[in-house]
Amino acid sequence: MDIREAARKFGWPKSRMKVCELTLNYACNARCVFCYSSPDMEEWKGKDDMRYRQAADYLMFSYRNGARMVQFIGGEPTIYPELPKLVRLAKKIGYPAIQVISNGINLGDRAYASELAACGMNTASISIHGDNAAMHDAVTGIKGSFKKAVRACGNLLDLGVYLNINTAITALNYRQLPAFTGFALDNFRTDSVHLIAAHFTGAAGRSPEKLIVRYSLQAPYLREAIAAFGRRRVRPAFRFLSNYVPCLLPEHANLMKDWELPDRDDDLFLPEEKHVGRMYAMVTDKLRAKAETCSRCVYNGVCAGFEKNYAAHFGRGEFRPVSGKRTIFAVRPVHG
Ligand code: SF4
Repeated sequence: MDIREAARKFGWPKSRMKVCELTLNYACNARCVFCYSSPDMEEWKGKDDMRYRQAADYLMFSYRNGARMVQFIGGEPTIYPELPKLVRLAKKIGYPAIQVISNGINLGDRAYASELAACGMNTASISIHGDNAAMHDAVTGIKGSFKKAVRACGNLLDLGVYLNINTAITALNYRQLPAFTGFALDNFRTDSVHLIAAHFTGAAGRSPEKLIVRYSLQAPYLREAIAAFGRRRVRPAFRFLSNYVPCLLPEHANLMKDWELPDRDDDLFLPEEKHVGRMYAMVTDKLRAKAETCSRCVYNGVCAGFEKNYAAHFGRGEFRPVSGKRTIFAVRPVHG
């Protein structure tokens, strides 16, 4: 199902929806090597699950304030016992788009996937980090997780759920990106494959030499991955490159997300200041930096900058000011 069919089927508006992102927990049933919020890590230790009542209040409050999509996120939201109940509530409130963001381990169970779909989940984001079990299982740290994630995608497709695939790009898998993108487009019949450069924080930040790969090394593989959409005549549903800034691949700046200053990133609605989504915080707060040369870049006024820790490790040489906006793009997202 592509985004247009999904929008027709579920009554989604043509423009981007405001999103209520609910982090239900910090616990997880996987052990991804790059994880930025593993319960094993100091900053997330002892963090409690969100209480059901609080989650229900956020859902209501966010809807009243214009959110029309809810994203249930973790940790791993499918190990939160009251997820089906919350999905049902979101549907009752009137959210047209109800998404679960998951590693796919539990959604590989047909009965559980069916339960969530019956409650009202109509879109899901499943993380898959390679086109084969050896790579994916090495990244998640869970043997058999590839099989379950692939099965989850099959279950969700059969249930008529709109599917997005997320993949984290690390030093382990970046060379496989073109093959992976083709694999995801061919096997999951989706137009949404989200490629995310591993953030220089959490577990990846602790072992950058093993896990973080220089942007300049990623670039040729990214170009090939982008070309995989074009070769299949698939128009991507959304901007699908995360944790990049335009100067790294100027001809594909239109495909990048999460790099603009927050007042431009207006599709994300957060119920309370203290409940700031983690992806959001990564592009807006103290983790970002700019170079002196950024003042000569056409994107300077809107660019939130690159990751400070990345630049401290690899230097700032890859971030060269862009002098003019390129106008030729290989692929264009449906929802820019
Ligand atoms: S402002 Fe700086 S970091 Fe942002 S795109 Fe331009 S050169 Fe890159």
